[in-house]
Amino acid sequence: MTNHLWMQEDHHAFADTVRRFLDEEFQPNRDQWKKDGLVPKDFWKKAGEIGILGATIPEEHGGLGLSRHFDAVTFLEQAKIGDSGWGFSVHNIATHYITAFATEQQKAKWLPALASGEKVAAIAMTEPGTGSDLQAVKTTALKDGNEYVINGSKTFITNGGSADLIVLVAKTDPKAAGRGVSLIIVETEDLEGFSVGRRLEKMGMKRNDTAELSFQDVRVPLTNLLGTDEGQGFYQLMKQLPWERLILAYSALGASQCALETTLAYVRERKAFGKRIMDFQNTRFKLAEVATKIEVLSAFVDQCLAELDAGTLTAEKAAMAKWWSTDVQCDVVDECLQLHGGYGYMSEYLISELYTDARVQKIYGGTNEIMKELIARSIDVD
Ligand SMILES: Cc1cc2nc3c(=O)[nH]c(=O)nc-3n(C[C@H](O)[C@H](O)[C@H](O)COP(=O)(O)OP(=O)(O)OC[C@H]3O[C@@H](n4cnc5c(N)ncnc54)[C@H](O)[C@@H]3O)c2cc1C
Repeated sequence: MTNHLWMQEDHHAFADTVRRFLDEEFQPNRDQWKKDGLVPKDFWKKAGEIGILGATIPEEHGGLGLSRHFDAVTFLEQAKIGDSGWGFSVHNIATHYITAFATEQQKAKWLPALASGEKVAAIAMTEPGTGSDLQAVKTTALKDGNEYVINGSKTFITNGGSADLIVLVAKTDPKAAGRGVSLIIVETEDLEGFSVGRRLEKMGMKRNDTAELSFQDVRVPLTNLLGTDEGQGFYQLMKQLPWERLILAYSALGASQCALETTLAYVRERKAFGKRIMDFQNTRFKLAEVATKIEVLSAFVDQCLAELDAGTLTAEKAAMAKWWSTDVQCDVVDECLQLHGGYGYMSEYLISELYTDARVQKIYGGTNEIMKELIARSIDVD
């Protein structure tokens, strides 16, 4: 298994804690939560209690004040048990927006509840009419006295049905493109005009609560603008994107490792033509290829994390990590499923869940085509 050179004693200890927590609190419930289409709030609170949710939130705001490496540990451990349904990634991204851009008052108001799991967060960018082209969002947040009045609808929102706090992408100046975008924090409890629409049925990620959201003359105080100035939303989104892309890359890495592990266990047991499936040269070569891809991916993603930590990770390199890792993940799970034969297609086998969960990784967080567009722009300079 891959060796992350940055992992010191405290990272290993944290990984042990996360692994134990997932074994005890997640694994016994994984099938039920798949049927429910939801990971319950109670689980979030337990994750908060042991410090998982607030690992990188500053100590003065209820977190542990650790580096992003500790979040990476959690994303790896979650993916290594073959789950991508628990929407911690989105919750984590929301906390990073607040940590990076909120005023001290706003941090004190929102971060402690996000660290403890009292509040679950979502990020609402995508709309029925626009996904990749974020500058074209139609949702508006217009000033009226001391409040913003919000109108619009969002779709495909992870944690959408259970979110207590939403980082909403809206136009505070509908006539402007990127410069008209602001991030508004919406607290959903008893909020008039806010409603959750359909909980969306998906090909995979069955435990994930993905929903449509509607805002009809929703009023929030002007102090819910993230930061102090309107029109900063696009800049704020761009600044956080490298981290979001690395989260997806670590999830892709962990899921690929999980696929390899579960496949090794299967091919060592299953026999055909009087031999273990493992003993066919094709199986050994396929697994050798998969193991190599995972090692190479791990080295690249770790390098990106080191650069992020040093403040030197470029947007285009983060985009490379996103498209490459998710492409590798989809290849790996496909090869691993093939080695399971017909059993790989059966829902009761973990590889089948890994396969259907993997596909969306090439789509959300910026599609892989958009990633390639960003990379191409960076190399197409005179
Ligand atoms: C399970 C799931 C969870 C999600 N969670 C969230 C969430 O929590 N919050 C949120 O805001 N959104 C979320 N999304 C939305 C996701 O980010 C969008 O689906 C994604 O950004 C693509 O947008 P779109 O679906 O509108 O596709 P479109 O933008 O309509 O793209 C359609 C196709 O055209 C291609 N394309 C578009 N523009 C270009 C271009 N310039 N050059 C080349 N090709 C292009 C795309 O790559 C794609 O192949 C989620 C989606 C899913 C499926």
